[in-house]
Amino acid sequence: VLTGLGYLLASPEPVLIVAEGGDERIVALNRAARSLFRLDTTARDLLPLQSLLPGIVAAFIAVEADESIDPSRFVRCSARTGDGHEAVMVGAVRGPPGKTPRIAIFVRTAERPQVDEAGEERSRLSALAMASTTDSVVIADARLPDYPIVYVNEAFERLTGYAAREVMGRNCRFLHGADCDQRGIEQVRTALSAGTPCRVTLRNYRKDGTQFWNQLTLSPVNDEGGSLTHFVGVQSDVTNSKQNEAELLRRATHDSLTGLPNHELLEERLESALRDADRSGTLVAVAFVDIDRLKRVNDSLGHAGGDTFIGAVASRLSNAVRSLDTVARYGGDEFVIVFRDLADTAAVEVLIARLRHLLGAPLIVENVELEPSASVGIALYPQDATSVAQLIRVADTAMYAAKATERGSFRFFDRTTMRTESDELAMENALRRALATGELKLHYQPIFNALTGRLAALEGLLRWRHPERGIIAPGDFIPLAEESGLIVPIGEWALREVCRQHRAWAARGVPLVPIAMNVSIVQLRRRDFCSTFKRIVREAGVDPRWIVLEITESIVMDNTELFVEMLSELRATGARISIDDFGTGFSSLGYLKRLSADSLKIDKSFVDDITSDRNAAAICQAIVTLAHSVGLIAVAEGVETPEQAAFLCGIGCDELQGFHFAHPGDAAAMEPFLILKRVPAA
Ligand code: C2E
Ligand code: CA
Ligand code: CA
Repeated sequence: VLTGLGYLLASPEPVLIVAEGGDERIVALNRAARSLFRLDTTARDLLPLQSLLPGIVAAFIAVEADESIDPSRFVRCSARTGDGHEAVMVGAVRGPPGKTPRIAIFVRTAERPQVDEAGEERSRLSALAMASTTDSVVIADARLPDYPIVYVNEAFERLTGYAAREVMGRNCRFLHGADCDQRGIEQVRTALSAGTPCRVTLRNYRKDGTQFWNQLTLSPVNDEGGSLTHFVGVQSDVTNSKQNEAELLRRATHDSLTGLPNHELLEERLESALRDADRSGTLVAVAFVDIDRLKRVNDSLGHAGGDTFIGAVASRLSNAVRSLDTVARYGGDEFVIVFRDLADTAAVEVLIARLRHLLGAPLIVENVELEPSASVGIALYPQDATSVAQLIRVADTAMYAAKATERGSFRFFDRTTMRTESDELAMENALRRALATGELKLHYQPIFNALTGRLAALEGLLRWRHPERGIIAPGDFIPLAEESGLIVPIGEWALREVCRQHRAWAARGVPLVPIAMNVSIVQLRRRDFCSTFKRIVREAGVDPRWIVLEITESIVMDNTELFVEMLSELRATGARISIDDFGTGFSSLGYLKRLSADSLKIDKSFVDDITSDRNAAAICQAIVTLAHSVGLIAVAEGVETPEQAAFLCGIGCDELQGFHFAHPGDAAAMEPFLILKRVPAA
């Protein structure tokens, strides 16, 4: 399970494995460590251990920040064992390259020091304080009122500018001065009163008044009897990384080309505008702005010119609105504007008129004079829609209506005329058109033999090349196709297309492999599915042996008897049957035996987690064993990393498919695989 680190757990020495980064939780520990920390649990879910061993985690975090130790090889920290001993932990190993780094800590119990009580306390505290030398350390006495500071190290003096003698006996809160309205302070208070560790980042102030970001790790210290005696705080100045964070945040919320808010920030702003409107009883208008003819600009000026044009349009839009409004870039040539605090629709019209006027002035890009124009659709809150997503969608619908009547015009959303054009029905019509006009395409993804690495099959995957929206993935239109029944003609088209491609390859002498196709439950529910299948392959002149029908497990479970019969009839034609997305349904072994199938495809969700989650790994192992026990081949989909591939080979999985080997591509992209029968060398 813990690839590459699993052997460590076999050690007779106590070993803990901590996941680095993020939440630093303990992901595994061996038997020796369990008994050392008095954890008799064999809990499969190791998460609760975090709460059982908070001291270790806190100490670990503190030490990890110590730059004097190369964290890729070595850490040292200490914690209390189950019988109150000091445990010193040394040794750290990073996890396998490319995976979430993990650190294994070997625990060694220190001899219990034979000293008097005061001496013992001192040695206990100094051990903790020593744990870090470059980080600032502060120790407070938890037994005295208001937790006075009893120790600070030199790094503390350097970091804060205060000398040790100035701070002794005071409570740490002077570090945040008057700035006490911070969420972290509340967390510290809670941790102090509960005697639990915590890690927070606070704004602190040096003696000279300058601000810094203090990442504080607070650990409670207990005496032999288990009662709380001290708190140890390890502080580090994370001002720089805080600033980086702010920059990252800005990048995550703003469009890089125009500097305008992106999707996420737009949604956030719109959400808050709606709340304000609820309170004040005013209107919010959402304008969906589609810049006309960007494609023409791109075609004549190139992409750099197109970018300049979009940048100029973006700044015109921002200048045209009031400071309380938000202009966001929504897509390539789409902007969404949120106008808030409006009295009535007349106010919206005034704003839109001004916007179109300012936008339309001649603009010179690379010596070419352009006249930008936009089609604008407007939705109003609360009358047109009540949620952020709906408002944007409705404004988009109105924009399409505007564009359809006249480019460069604007329209308010009109429930009576536009409802039918919106959403599902429009999409369904578009899909119907897509089938007729050849916008549907089949892509293929190779499947390899796990042992030999040779190409075993291809899986056909639908793609919709929408004229405006680009390539749409099947997940976004198949549910609709199923609801509307369009999946039946689409599925027939896909089968004919697979046959045509097979024949085309055969005619050119390209080596062939079986091609798998996904079959929807809606197709299978029709009694004529078998005869349709037979007719299509016969008309195309393809031997059904070249076709694999992938049927999802949940479908098969849906209507047992009917499918047992239907699958055996299909299989009698020579076609192969693969049970797709296996592991998500609840097939019983007995049932699987009665099904006429050739292979099981382990669902991607299990493959995703096999190297990190023991349950997923165990499920994969079980599926492979189960498949083999009833004479089926086990195929794994969604294999993305070499570790996953290695693991799946290791448990005897027969065939592998996934981005690690090859992404789906069009028919031409499959030819190198077919000709070489393996992954071509880079
Ligand atoms: P599926 O049958 O489970 O197909 C596998 C999906 O996983 C494909 O997505 C494929 O592109 C993707 N995939 C493959 N390897 C990897 C990987 O390593 N990582 C990740 N993240 N993804 C990987 P796609 O093409 O978007 O298809 C989605 C689903 O749409 C398919 O799931 C299938 O249920 C359905 N579908 C596709 N084509 C058809 C079709 O012709 N008819 C029917 N009824 N359904 C189809
Ligand atoms: Ca599939
Ligand atoms: Ca799947």
